[in-house]
Amino acid sequence: MTARTPAPPVVADAPAPPPAPSPGPPRHVAVAGAGLAATQTVAALREAGFDGRVTVLGAETVPPYDRPPLSKHLLDRPRPTWLADEVGADLRTLADDVRLGTPASGLVVTGAGVELATPHGAVAADAVVLATGAAAVRPAGWSAALTLHTADDARVLRERLGPGARLVVIGAGWIGAEVAGVAAAAGVDVTVVEAAAGPLGSALGTAVGGLTAPWYAAAGVRLLCDAQVVDVRADGVTLADGQVLPADVVLAAVGARPATAWLAGALPRETDGSLRVDEGFAVVGAPRHVRAVGDVALRRSARHGWVPGGHWDGALRGPEVLVADLLGVAGVLADVAPYVFSTQLGHELALFGQPGPDDDVVLRGDPSGGDGWTAVWFRPGADDAAAILTVDRPRDVGAARRLFGARDLPRLDRRLVRDLAHPLRETALT
Ligand SMILES: Cc1cc2nc3c(=O)[nH]c(=O)nc-3n(C[C@H](O)[C@H](O)[C@H](O)COP(=O)(O)OP(=O)(O)OC[C@H]3O[C@@H](n4cnc5c(N)ncnc54)[C@H](O)[C@@H]3O)c2cc1C
Repeated sequence: MTARTPAPPVVADAPAPPPAPSPGPPRHVAVAGAGLAATQTVAALREAGFDGRVTVLGAETVPPYDRPPLSKHLLDRPRPTWLADEVGADLRTLADDVRLGTPASGLVVTGAGVELATPHGAVAADAVVLATGAAAVRPAGWSAALTLHTADDARVLRERLGPGARLVVIGAGWIGAEVAGVAAAAGVDVTVVEAAAGPLGSALGTAVGGLTAPWYAAAGVRLLCDAQVVDVRADGVTLADGQVLPADVVLAAVGARPATAWLAGALPRETDGSLRVDEGFAVVGAPRHVRAVGDVALRRSARHGWVPGGHWDGALRGPEVLVADLLGVAGVLADVAPYVFSTQLGHELALFGQPGPDDDVVLRGDPSGGDGWTAVWFRPGADDAAAILTVDRPRDVGAARRLFGARDLPRLDRRLVRDLAHPLRETALT
């Protein structure tokens, strides 16, 4: 999961190539990336009856695997969870040509097709799907810190985290919280340092994110907020107030950015590297045979505005919409609501929709009680709910999923929402 703002502001470090007409249904689709979005794209192509050629380029040398278990099962699952088992789609049987250990290193787009450069020669195709995911952020000067994004990162981290080891996690976001919880449960001495006033601030805002702060002490984790790291070394970190935190392992968990640097000026990119795509995942400003999906994509949604990637469900479900539009078999394109899940510090979280910084937040249930709670973000002064976060409330998860399945944002009764006696789904205004 990446800690990314909903709509990066400035466009393009390169001029947009002029949009060109689509050259018609492709006979050869090249997919750059071999993760979840790539696997789902190839599976969706075949499910839609596409019998043309599919070539997949993957930077990693191992078959596609699932990333969420890397943090949640960091210490109890030493092998990757292969996507062929997890989502039931095996690239090796679905694609004609799967080249692992072969990163795409450049893209040339013409009106009729594309050419992808690789270290072992070029691949020409009629259409390209960019699904190269994201890379963990490691700020300059933090080379002594580990990051967690790949199975190899997980192996290195696992080998260093024996009982009694001192771990300093920089960043109380989704991944920092998950790693802190599993490490502390295994007897690691964990300190989490967060520059903002509370955890999960960039995803939920500090007011709601701050409600998770007590979970850290309850799990045996020391949490330091409003704490700025000024120096990172292999043996610890130094904070702006001079405090030194000794460590055997330092983990930088300060977000991820779309892995699109290899595109250089071939396509218009946002300042964070993401690619703006329309409802059919066509890259805005490029011919329609250039598509992007998963963590690289900043998707236009009628319901939510611009939706960044960075979450598993978008990479799982986006490809089906992309393929339907690419092959011209789409009816009305599905506008999949953003959905993030997380298991952290003994709690189950599910976030539907996209909270806005100016939204009004209504709480349902008591965060200090034991029955779970739910937060609902309402558009300022309105009944439209922009997002719902459920914490340890499986019944609200089902209701929230349904509420965000309609064309428009759900309209809810703020007064009823507060009251746990009213099932969430019955708070909808007609
Ligand atoms: C530790 C961790 C825990 C997570 N937990 C959750 C969670 O609980 N809930 C949730 O919603 N999301 C979670 N996520 C996020 C989720 O896993 C991602 O959103 C999802 O994997 C995105 O899929 P993707 O296919 O876009 O990218 P990826 O899965 O990253 O796949 C992209 C692939 O492309 C490859 N690649 C990169 N550059 C190139 C290139 N130039 N050429 C060819 N290949 C290239 C990469 O090596 C990678 O294999 C987690 C992520 C991590 C790292």
